[in-house]
Amino acid sequence: MSEHVTEHPRFRWLIDHVDGVLDGPRLGATESHLSASCATCESTLVEIRELTGALAAPALASPPAAVMRRAAGLFPSRVVRRVRELVAALVFDQRMQPAMALRATTGSARRILWTVGDLEVVVTMVRRSAANDLSGEILPALDDGDTAVVGEVTLGLVGGASQSAALDDEGAFRFDSLASGTYVLWGGSQGVRFRTPPFVVD
Ligand SMILES: [Zn+2]
Repeated sequence: MSEHVTEHPRFRWLIDHVDGVLDGPRLGATESHLSASCATCESTLVEIRELTGALAAPALASPPAAVMRRAAGLFPSRVVRRVRELVAALVFDQRMQPAMALRATTGSARRILWTVGDLEVVVTMVRRSAANDLSGEILPALDDGDTAVVGEVTLGLVGGASQSAALDDEGAFRFDSLASGTYVLWGGSQGVRFRTPPFVVD
């Protein structure tokens, strides 16, 4: 990513903007950014509008029960279990658009947004020829833009290996060259320990 990511409004703000619920300083910052005709954000807005239209009625689908059970039994670390973990709530998943339920094509990006406690977790997956790169960010939901984010995340393949990464100064992390499969992302930041529901990467 060559651009400084915080120069764009957050993905969540763009969603709220489309939903007409963005207000206060975030609305001002977002409108001011959009009035400068940012092509990146304009294209994101188009995707969000298409998706929110497609998602107007149905609730988001849950993963199959068997996948949930397998994921719940993963990584049986006593240390982790002693700490109360919050399950992140899915807010937005590009895959939920019916037209994108088909296998992702090379180079296409898919974004997922979860909220947990006072945190937002965003991941973007880009499919390359034979693998997937996943980049993400963990942000305080009520951040004014200057809060340093600390923490770490672990990405585990259901039935496979896991790998960990520290968050950088902007709360960003990345895992490259992922095999297709069902993954769970968990970690801690700002005093919150979380776990996402399983999500499919393919
Ligand atoms: Zn932008």
